[in-house]
Amino acid sequence: MGSKYILLILVSIASIFHSREQTKSITLRLERIDPKTSHLQHATENVACDKVAIIVMDMWDKHWCKSWTARGAAMIPKMNAALAAARKSGIQVIFSPSAVADFYKDYPQRKAVLAMPATGEFIFPSVDELKNMGTKERAEYTKNKKSYFEGSIYEARNIAGQAYAGYPPLPPFESTGGCECKKRDCKMENVWTRQNKDLVIEASDLIVEGNNRPELVNICKARGYTHLLYMGGAGNMCLTSSRETSTINMANRGLKCIYIEDIMISISGNGYNPDTKKTDPSFTPEKGDKMVLEHLKKYIAPSIKSNELFTF
Ligand SMILES: [Zn+2]
Repeated sequence: MGSKYILLILVSIASIFHSREQTKSITLRLERIDPKTSHLQHATENVACDKVAIIVMDMWDKHWCKSWTARGAAMIPKMNAALAAARKSGIQVIFSPSAVADFYKDYPQRKAVLAMPATGEFIFPSVDELKNMGTKERAEYTKNKKSYFEGSIYEARNIAGQAYAGYPPLPPFESTGGCECKKRDCKMENVWTRQNKDLVIEASDLIVEGNNRPELVNICKARGYTHLLYMGGAGNMCLTSSRETSTINMANRGLKCIYIEDIMISISGNGYNPDTKKTDPSFTPEKGDKMVLEHLKKYIAPSIKSNELFTF
């Protein structure tokens, strides 16, 4: 056997060890807030990287609000760096660009999702749908399911009752309308066509339609993902409740959902207090992000910080 072949064998063995290395586990340093005491709680959880997927929510090229578009774009460099580190660790990257997934219809990353076998699972209504349901319809769900949130992670939160009684409003309130500009003069219209073009999509990634409920759950079943880490926007809408791929809906299916708190933004209304319907200059988007995050950590799911997860 020539030395060339021995080298080849050694390289092959090395790559086997390398791929084993890639399926190593990752430590999640979870932060939650005790809903009763408001004290910060810490916990760690080790998970195999091949059980983890990152969901990138609604990183549209354009939003009808100029300031929101800019806030989203400002996250991209950090997002790309974190996603690159995640891929290297063997964590799956899944983009969830609601309403614009069609832009990617010819991408292999989109076709791969559509080719996944359907699980035929019970389809939960989204929290928004639930809010708009009549009493009779809600009762049907209660009858059919012991608990709407049965099987969701972090049952300690036990938000099922609250969801039925009226989901606790997410601060600083969706009713601010979504314009983040000081003048609040942007006009609502559908201007999004795709994801921000600077957001890097790699061959191994997947693209789901955020409003096509079964896709993400199909992927999780087919690939065995148990933990979903969320980044993008908005913390008080799409990330949490208004998309089928959002944390609450996926937690309903038994997925462990976790926010990456330093790579997400929330709608704040920038300087507009919806309670008083008056302008409050101290109410900045940063303040809004903080308020929403506290609420999410208290009532919805824990968070992690990207620099505690990856080196990048
Ligand atoms: Zn605006």
